[in-house]
Amino acid sequence: MTQITSAEESALARAHSDLQEAGVRTVIGTVVNASGITLAKSVPLARLGIFNQSGMGAAPVWHVFTIDGGIAFTDTITPVGDMRLKIDITGVRVLQGRRAWAPASLFEQDGAASPACARGLLSDVDGRLGTAGYKALVGHELEFFLTSPDGSALETTPWVPYGATGLLDRSDFLDDLLAAMNQAGIPLEQIHAEYGRNQFEFSLPPASPVEAADTAVVARIIVGIVARAHGMQASFSPTPFPGTVGNGAHQHLSLQKNGQPLFSAGTGPHGISGEGGAAIGGIIAGLPDIQGFLTGSILSGSRLAPGTWSGAYLCWGLENREASVRFLNEGKSNPHGANVEVKIIDPSANVYLASAAILALALDGIRSGRKLPAEIPGDPGRLSAEERHRADVRLLSDSPTAIIDTLDKSRLARGLLGDAIVDATVAVRRYEQRAFAELAPDELAQRFRLAWSI
Ligand code: GLU
Ligand code: MG
Repeated sequence: MTQITSAEESALARAHSDLQEAGVRTVIGTVVNASGITLAKSVPLARLGIFNQSGMGAAPVWHVFTIDGGIAFTDTITPVGDMRLKIDITGVRVLQGRRAWAPASLFEQDGAASPACARGLLSDVDGRLGTAGYKALVGHELEFFLTSPDGSALETTPWVPYGATGLLDRSDFLDDLLAAMNQAGIPLEQIHAEYGRNQFEFSLPPASPVEAADTAVVARIIVGIVARAHGMQASFSPTPFPGTVGNGAHQHLSLQKNGQPLFSAGTGPHGISGEGGAAIGGIIAGLPDIQGFLTGSILSGSRLAPGTWSGAYLCWGLENREASVRFLNEGKSNPHGANVEVKIIDPSANVYLASAAILALALDGIRSGRKLPAEIPGDPGRLSAEERHRADVRLLSDSPTAIIDTLDKSRLARGLLGDAIVDATVAVRRYEQRAFAELAPDELAQRFRLAWSI
């Protein structure tokens, strides 16, 4: 065990006194597992230092708890052993109800990172980018449907997609949501009523990958707290109500080298630099391999219908909402600068793992000098099958079994992200496929509508 440094000790003391001053009694530390569900331990504030230094115990099966409360054991993940769940106090946020939250990572008892810890993996991938001279920023979008506490649809009220109606009908909820986000120090960029009835979306500002994913997790917790306070729940299922739009969990990504953006001021289309193009090329080439990390759940495939802006087509294009990778140009109308939005991701994904997989593909694309594929400027759904074939654009798979089989067999995914995380993901998603294959779409959606809610 490494000794606590005096800098760490004073950071802990500061955090403790800040939280005490804020009236906090309980500190909750969370991890997100291979099923995309959020697990937690909590301690009284007095134990903040212990939670950070020694951590709390967590059985190895935490990695493979399933969406129905089952366990998808693997050859290496068994009832034996123990891990430590340690909070990162640099990410502490104050929540309502005398609670604070902090992101946690999973470690072995000897202090080594647990190989199936997604937060540890994202930090590792970010480190690889840093060593190679790149800096990534990630911005998350969160979509959710408000539901009754039991997950059933709220009573029908008039709904205008992207309308002002939803903002007014739910203004008390939205006002409290903003207040709770402010209290936690999370600056929302915007919030709007989405296409689906009682569906809302907000965006978070770009941040370094781990911090951005941490914020996305606590933002979901805050949505859960405020929804409950208003006698509701929030569904983060990819397909809460079959037959209409689903929930995406899009991630915006930009890269810099020596302070220079890779997606602007270059000589390629829309100013994309050679390395920026290689990063996009790497993402497009590897998406089918890592799709199991982005849209791997039993409810993910049904979201991926063309025409629902879920980015079902494997291609990229400027402001193309049907492309799995939408490019956003720099300019006055885009204060964050040029970036790519990976639209295909849904909220059943582990947010850390989804970022890790995409960033690893981007770096792999740069390292292997990939070419930027041809841009698809329009809706690929308007092309004939023949035209799509010629343009080399196809739909990503919407079959849960095919998506997970591809991940399982992918040397690329295993090479970039490690066997432990691939095996855990394959185990939980195959469990879902085995256990629920017989359920009709409506039953499946209803049963797991709140599975990814916090
Ligand atoms: N709800 C859509 C999805 O499933 C996204 C709509 C949008 O472009 O914001 O990804
Ligand atoms: Mg949206």
